[in-house]
Amino acid sequence: MASQLQNVSILGSTGSIGVNTLSVMEANSEHYNVFALSANTSREKLFQQCLTFKPHYAVMRDATEAALLAKQLASTSTEVLSGNEGLDSIASMTEVDTVMCAIVGAAGLQSTLAAARAGKKVLLANKEALVMSGSLFMDEIRNNNATLIPIDSEHNAIFQCLPGEQSEALLQGQTSLVDLGIEKILLTGSGGPFRTTDIHLLPSITPEQACNHPNWSMGQKISVDSATMMNKGLEYIEAYWLFSAAIDQIEIIVHPQSVVHSMVQYKDGSVLAQLGLPDMRTPIAHGLAFPQRIESNVGSLDFTNLSNLTFEASDEIRFPCLRLAKNALKLGGSASTILNAANEVAVHSFLSGEIKYTDIATTIESVLELQGPKDIHSIEAVVDVDQWARKSAIQHIKEQN
Ligand code: NAD
Ligand code: MG
Repeated sequence: MASQLQNVSILGSTGSIGVNTLSVMEANSEHYNVFALSANTSREKLFQQCLTFKPHYAVMRDATEAALLAKQLASTSTEVLSGNEGLDSIASMTEVDTVMCAIVGAAGLQSTLAAARAGKKVLLANKEALVMSGSLFMDEIRNNNATLIPIDSEHNAIFQCLPGEQSEALLQGQTSLVDLGIEKILLTGSGGPFRTTDIHLLPSITPEQACNHPNWSMGQKISVDSATMMNKGLEYIEAYWLFSAAIDQIEIIVHPQSVVHSMVQYKDGSVLAQLGLPDMRTPIAHGLAFPQRIESNVGSLDFTNLSNLTFEASDEIRFPCLRLAKNALKLGGSASTILNAANEVAVHSFLSGEIKYTDIATTIESVLELQGPKDIHSIEAVVDVDQWARKSAIQHIKEQN
């Protein structure tokens, strides 16, 4: 382990991933320094984090909230910044070594790109940023000598199952799955809380039921995505870009126990899997320390006490979001950006009681049908498509209600 302290900025420190990152850093405080923290609206939580971790900077999305936080922190050494500019700064300042990108949704795109452009070690939890901008995102990582480590547990598992000395080269686009002797990436998913629910009951699912994941404790948006399996769809697109995979090199396998976090199948018949308890502190610790290993405080698996590990095919009739995501990737161009934006709007509307669980997929499908995929050559074009798809989804929901 390098003896120098790594300065880490956490984009989205008050969320589920943010809090887990702070926990791993606290357990390894001889190696990591909390350089900057950020939040959207949770001022009190960010204030408490600042008192505990004493970062150089704290960012609040809203300028008025930032001014209030600055008053609260007046007697401390933490400087308060605000807005997208503040987020971009803490992602790119020269003192920063590592950026944990853990803002949820498209809101995290700009600051994640800022970290990539500044050549940082980018720990990517914010899968939506990659899904919406695909090759443009990967180009920013590669052209700016940034290091990208996937934190999403499945992609982190796949990264760990790659030939060690070649894993970074694959993400940098310097080698290919075929060159590494890899036939397939096997992306596992639990199937969420409604894997076996009577399909006729799905329209009456409540937000509370949808957020009650059987194995993982997560933020609300990703919990609903897991319930619709859009999360696995987004992860399918994420895997495609991260590992320069072809569509037929990625297979989704439902594994309800969430013990095997994903697998890599080699051409000699070997399958390598990464296993562990379903706790995000493991991939976070792996990403922070890579290529070394640090303590995460996650317990070890007790194999003698494990229930049966089972595997099954995914069901695209029960989970239409999975079909929509796979199709969007096949269509290419702007389709994944539209899928992601319409999903964010639909999930938000579901959580606020405006639409039914089953309307999430129909909303996304309707927006995708409005416009054929367009080629996208710039981040500005990505943002335009994202905005258009959001407006269209809101309009669609209004018309249905
Ligand atoms: P969360 O809702 O718990 O936290 C989101 C964080 O982002 C909070 O700190 C919030 O203040 C901040 N934020 C939200 N909107 C913002 C905005 N407009 N501007 C600035 N900041 C904003 O979410 P989470 O579960 O921690 O997930 C974060 C990301 O990590 C998501 O992209 C999710 O898909 C991904 N991820 C999460 C998990 C998990 O276990 N929670 C696992 C894999 C991937
Ligand atoms: Mg995941």
